[in-house]
Order: sequence, then structure tokens, then C-alpha cells
Amino acid sequence: MKKTILLFSVCCLALTSFSAETNATIGFPNGKQPWKRAGNEQQFADYRQELKKLMELPAEQLRAHPAAADFPGAVPAEAARIERSISVDTWIPRWHSTGLYAAPGELITVTIPSNAVAAKLRVRIGCHKDMLWAEKIPSWKRVQEITRSFAITETVTRAANAFGGPVYIEVPADCTLGEVTVKIQHAIAAPIFELGKTDLKTWREQLRNSPAPWAELVGKKLAISLPSANVRQLDDPDEVVKFWDRVVAAEDELSGQTNRISPERFVLDRQISAGYMHSGYPIMAWLDQSGKVANLDSLKQGNWGFFHELGHNHQRPDWTPAGTGEVTCNIFSMYCFETVCQLPRNGHNAISARNRETKLKVFYADTSKSWTSEPFLALIFYEQLVEGFGWEPFRKVFAEFRDLPKGERPKTDAEKLDQWLVRFSKASGKNLTPFFAAWRIPVSASAVSAVKDLPAWLPEPDYPKRYQASN
Ligand SMILES: [Zn+2]
Repeated sequence: MKKTILLFSVCCLALTSFSAETNATIGFPNGKQPWKRAGNEQQFADYRQELKKLMELPAEQLRAHPAAADFPGAVPAEAARIERSISVDTWIPRWHSTGLYAAPGELITVTIPSNAVAAKLRVRIGCHKDMLWAEKIPSWKRVQEITRSFAITETVTRAANAFGGPVYIEVPADCTLGEVTVKIQHAIAAPIFELGKTDLKTWREQLRNSPAPWAELVGKKLAISLPSANVRQLDDPDEVVKFWDRVVAAEDELSGQTNRISPERFVLDRQISAGYMHSGYPIMAWLDQSGKVANLDSLKQGNWGFFHELGHNHQRPDWTPAGTGEVTCNIFSMYCFETVCQLPRNGHNAISARNRETKLKVFYADTSKSWTSEPFLALIFYEQLVEGFGWEPFRKVFAEFRDLPKGERPKTDAEKLDQWLVRFSKASGKNLTPFFAAWRIPVSASAVSAVKDLPAWLPEPDYPKRYQASN
């Protein structure tokens, strides 16, 4: 414990301590020697205050933080500082990759035309947006907060980040400015491949060797921010981003999303704020996925986790009753395995044929067990619907929910289950009441009545008899 306390006590984040020399001491959480929270709460609180102050300093006052070389990474000393003008389509909101990188603590200059000054654009430095302050995080492998975003309110904006990072132009929703040319000066070239824009020959001979430590692979429906080390040998970035475009297109299509206005984004990080991956913008994953996310051979084998997180981004509360937050997103994983990868839909070991049988036997042996007591148990309920009816009723029901006026949306879990019973029964042409009963899922008399004239359906004639203990 004493050793850990010492680590905290040498962590002086005052600007005066920022120098190349302090890099030799371990004055910050890092990959080799993570910091622990337990027993160091007060030191951590002081450190946090110092870091907060640093992250609010004006760009002109910043210098490189010694942790930057550890993560997100060092910039080669000889790397040229360049100027580049980029066309940004502001009809597309969220982050626009620039293929440029701000060196730690160094000012970059962003220049926009005067007609764009009121457009609420921002310049972001750093993709590792997750902050690692939450109480539940017991230890750290990187500094807890390492990105900055600056409002662009004049034609010339200066920006910097003590940790450095990829440069993005952030566009707000509902921006109607159209194409804007943004000039960025004093940045470093980063590997970038943009589908439809980048020539493969240029990528292979030049772009993938650009000096910045983080790279961008940009498709039409998804962009990836990953370590440059993972793209230096990448010959076919076009096939990688096309694969991801197909995945997003598949999930859009299943969920009835016809109006996608901006791509999704994956960011790889040494440590993230929750779980092994999490959804949102961007979708975050740990660095151990960086070798897979841009590896076509690996992707073709399916990536349940990424499909799952994208599934969260397509998930809607209307058809996600309590206890199924980690279930209905997996409908999308199954769909991508089957339709994009041409693989069996049960691509996760938890629902292999054998595990599925075990789960059903346990569920039917213990009548006190809820169908949502385990996410992969509940997923079998949906998988049986896929087996019985294919994907079309899912498409139809998801689209129906999407188009519902606010007043008709389910407000309670009971209403969500009722509506799923009625809508899916009508979409499949079968009365699913016996199926819901077999799964011990409660529905109202009025929902049962609404589908009573349809032929009753179960996955097999005497379901669930063969899973029950007496048989
Ligand atoms: Zn999840």
C-alpha cells in the first residue's frame, strides 16, 4: 500500500512538473503500472482536481503532459507539422475525421470561412472520450481524462491538448451549412483511408505509413479509430470498411432505420469507462480488439461483441422490457452472424446447441425462475421466434414500433409485453399466447383476446415437454 501511496504523492500535475524528465518517474497511471483506488482516495481526489484544472486551461498555456507518450502515444520527433484543407459536409453530424493529429501540447490552428462561424462547429483533439472517474472503477491503466473539444466561434481557432490526439471537426445535429472548407495548420499526418475518396495505391505506398500514432478507417456507415500499428500492414482497408458498412446496413435494415444521417464510430482504447465494450457514440472497446476490428479474416468469423454494441445503438425501449437490456441487442448479433457472415446465428458459445438445451432444462425444472433471469436464456425466446418465422416478422414489428405516434407507445413493461405479443402474433399470423405461457411471460387478458382467432403456435407440438425433468 505504501508503494502505491508514494506513486500518488509524486504525481504532481502542476504545470511546472511537466517536462521530459518527469516521464522517467511514474507520475501518472500507465500501462505497466496501473494505479489502484483502494487506500488512496485522498491522493486521488487531489490529483483529480489538478487534472481537471489542466483540462480547462486555455490552449495557449498547454504543454505536453508526460503521460502522453505512454498513451495515446508518442509522436515521432521528426514528424513534419503540416497544413491541410479539408472539405466537411455539415449535413452529416458528429465527428468528421481529418486524417490529422495534434502533437501533445502543441497548438493547431483551425480556419473556417466567416459564414460558418455561427454554425456551432467544434474542433476535437482526441478520440478516447471515456472519462474514468466513476466510483466503480478500481484501478487505472491510463490518465482518466485525455481529450479536449473547443468551440469554433471565430474564423481562426487555436486548439491544443496536453495529451495530443486525432483531430476531428464536430458538427452539431441539424446543421444546414452544407460543404465547408476547414484549414488545419501545424498538425501531423495520420493514416486515413476513406471509402470512395482514398486511392488504394496511395494508401499502400504512402498514407498507411503516416507518422501519427492513431489511424482512421472511414466507411459510409462506420468509422474506426485505432492504433496506427494495426494498419501499417493493412492492404485492404476498402474491404474492411465495406464489411462494416454491410454490418451497419444489416442492423439498420432489421430495425427499420431508413434515415441514417451519420456513420457510427468504433474507438479502441487502453481502458474504457464500463464493461469490455460499450455502446454509444463512439462505441468503445479495449485495445485487445484492435487486431480484430480491421482484420477481414477475423471479421468474417463474426464478432459477437461489436455486433452486440451496434445492436444497443439500434435497440428501442418500446420492445425492450425490463431485464432484456442485454438481450434484444443480441437479436442483432444473431442477424449479423447469419446474414452478413453467412454463419449460424448462434455465434456465441452461451447459446450453442448444447448450452441452449441445458438452459432450457434448468428453466423448466425451476418454475420460480424468470425468463429474464439470464440474458442468454431470454435470447432463446427470440431465437425460437426466428426459427419459427424467419426475420420478416421482426422487421415488420420493429418498423411498426418505429412509426408509432407517441400516444400509442407502450409506457410500462406490461404494455411492452402485451404489444410484442399482439404485434408479433399478427405479423407471423399465429397466436403466440401459448408460447408466452410456456415462457411464463405475463400478458393481459385484452392482449390474449386480441389474437385469439389466430391459430395457436408453439416451437414444437408439445413444447416444452422434452425439456421438463419428468421426461
Ligand atoms: Zn451490452
